[in-house]
Amino acid sequence: MSAHSEIPETIVSYPRGEVTSTGHIVHVHPANDGQTVVVLDTTAAHPVDSAWPDQGADRGSLTVGGRALPITDVVVCAGDGSAFFAGSDIPVKKGTEGWAFVVGHVVPTDAALQLGAEVAVEVDPAYRRALSAGHTACHLASLALNAALAEDWTKEVAGDGRGVANFDGEAIASSRIGEFGSVDVYRLGKSLKKRGFDKARLLAETDAVVAATNAQLAEWVASGAAVDIRREGDTLTARRFWECALPDGAASIPCGGTHVSSLAELAAVTVALEVNDDGTELVMRTTAVAA
Ligand SMILES: [Zn+2]
Repeated sequence: MSAHSEIPETIVSYPRGEVTSTGHIVHVHPANDGQTVVVLDTTAAHPVDSAWPDQGADRGSLTVGGRALPITDVVVCAGDGSAFFAGSDIPVKKGTEGWAFVVGHVVPTDAALQLGAEVAVEVDPAYRRALSAGHTACHLASLALNAALAEDWTKEVAGDGRGVANFDGEAIASSRIGEFGSVDVYRLGKSLKKRGFDKARLLAETDAVVAATNAQLAEWVASGAAVDIRREGDTLTARRFWECALPDGAASIPCGGTHVSSLAELAAVTVALEVNDDGTELVMRTTAVAA
């Protein structure tokens, strides 16, 4: 294939909760260690996005020419007219003109991996379900933490997906979604103070903040509220939103990941908070229990 810009943006079905799909190979690219990056026109496999790697890659297999190839990684890739990059090697931001952003499936190199070949994607459904539970729990926990810290701002600050002062949005340094849980790291440094967050109560009464956050989470989980992924399109880079019909008002958060379809799929979501010794970093560990 001479012009990479001819690669179409991948149509992704994982936001709808799909775990299987059938597509055709539109690009192959050599990778290290006898592996090949395979780009399909459509896929159910969720890729890790190196620009914000909160939810990791799905596990599963590609079946092509009667051969099942284990997926070793799924990564966001990008190509322009002359080059193709995978993961953190991508030199441009999403939306840069002339670049197509696609899903790259990393599999062992195989003779069956030919342009145009039909490929069946099968995602490990149990692992996906565990990540989806972890991701929804992560969003709920961020909203509950924001609510618990809403009185600790001395300045006007942007609202979160419920319109509450967005501590999560202002302080987040990294977020990692795991099976039935997540770990979020927040910076409590000078720049957060400048934006108006007074961390004194959080540091002095961490247990009370945990209790308030967990009480809010218990109320929300008990509501069994519906969760929907609102999509502005079906391509990899189309804007998508996690939307949850919480009893005290609908919440909406921009999100490219996968989620449960209802809080009724969860029996509990709880957080633990840990502040480091010099009070400059807060770690929130969120745990979800399946219903
Ligand atoms: Zn998300």
